[in-house]
Formats: sequence, structure tokens, C-alpha cells
Amino acid sequence: MPEGDTVWLTARRLHEALAGRVLTRSDVRVPRYATTNLAGRTVTEVAARGKHLLIRVEGGITVHTHLRMDGSWRVRPARDRIGGSHRIRLVLANDTWQAVGYQLGIVEVLRTAQEASVVGHLGPDLLGPDWDEAEAVRRLRAAPVRAIGEALLDQRNLAGIGNIFATEMLFLRGLSPWRPVGEVADLRALVELGHRLLEANKERAGIITTGVVRRGEETWAYGRAGRPCRRCRTTIRQAEQGDAGEERVRFWCPHCQR
Ligand SMILES: [Zn+2]
Repeated sequence: MPEGDTVWLTARRLHEALAGRVLTRSDVRVPRYATTNLAGRTVTEVAARGKHLLIRVEGGITVHTHLRMDGSWRVRPARDRIGGSHRIRLVLANDTWQAVGYQLGIVEVLRTAQEASVVGHLGPDLLGPDWDEAEAVRRLRAAPVRAIGEALLDQRNLAGIGNIFATEMLFLRGLSPWRPVGEVADLRALVELGHRLLEANKERAGIITTGVVRRGEETWAYGRAGRPCRRCRTTIRQAEQGDAGEERVRFWCPHCQR
């Protein structure tokens, strides 16, 4: 599942291709918006908000999308033929570029003035211009009995963290995913680490937390169940965490993470 760093980079690429240019074609392949036509309008800005993408168009219109599990965007020269048409949910094109959204989990068109209805619930955005560490800590602290592994993924606390970053943050801070938030000694340091990790990864496609670019060595704990911990050689464990229907796989070292 794409995390905040992927969405940030996607927003930048879409902004470079679309912003300041007039749309020559829009194709929203979602029944509810099938008749929406944005051609003739200028894209003013493409912004990421946590894992949400906001494409703002002249006339106070926002196209809101979310990648969810399998979504992705590709930017291609306007004249290229585009494949995989059954997976396409949205096309926005100008004279030079076409931006194609595949398998997007959310596509909706709304008034820019109403963006708060779709992203207003989000906590401080780790990669946003208004990142507010103290506010993120305050929101986490408000539910002290909740497991820290779940609390980090709740986008109402802080926006942008997915399972890979949460797993790696907890390993690096020596925290079990099941430790209650109220028993995390230094929440601020944990949040600060998350901010640093997302910042360090936002310019590249994959996620690397170990500093090692070699395939299979990018993470400390994520995806390493049954293999030895890189620090203590204890076997990395795997289990599910979260409410029914929203379970996420956890990876942790029982020795390094208490
Ligand atoms: Zn270990």
C-alpha cells in the first residue's frame, strides 16, 4: 500500500505536468462523474495531504483521489497511446502531458471550498508545509490505552504513515507494536523519527530505512518474518493487529522491541 512519501512524490510529478496548463481533455471513468468535463480549465495546483491527492482546477473545483491499495499514476507525453485501459479511472491531459490514474481507490470531484469534508479529519501531515509535531503528539496522547502500532496508522493522529514506516519506526525506537500509547516514554522522539524517515524517502520510489540500497536489505523488520534480526539475530516475528476487518500485519523483534 502506498504511503505518504509516494503520494508526495506523485503530487510533485503531477504538479509539474499539469499546473499552469489548460486541460484539453478530462475523462473521469467513475459512473457518478461520467459527464464531468474539465477541458478548457487551467489546473492551478496539485497537492498531497497525507495519503490524499488534491488536484485543484480553475473555477473552484478540486479532483480528490486516493491510491488505496493498488492505485498509481503515470505521466506520459500527450501523444502516447495508453495501455491497460480497463484499469484507468481518470485521465487529465493538456497539450504536452497526459496524467493517467490507474485503479484509484477514490475519485471524486468537489468544490475546492469543501475540501475539508474529505481531508479535514486528518492529523498533521508529516510532509506538509504545516507539519506540526506537537499537535501530532497531542492527538496520539489523547487515547493512552490504544496500542501504539494502531495509533500510528490512524491518519487522524498524523497523516502519511503506512505499515512499512510504522513497523520501522517501532523497531528503531525499541517499541513493541502492542505497547499502549500512554506507556511510550518518548512519543515526541517517535514522531520526530517518522518525520525524518518520510523526508528521507520522499524523493525515491521505494522505502529504505536501513540506509542500505541493496534489494532485501532496505528494512529492519518489515517483511522479514522468520529471518534473524539485523541487530540481535533473534527471529523476527509476524502477527496481525487491529480491529476486525482492518487488521494489519506486524513484524517485530521480540528481543529489541519490548
Ligand atoms: Zn533484535
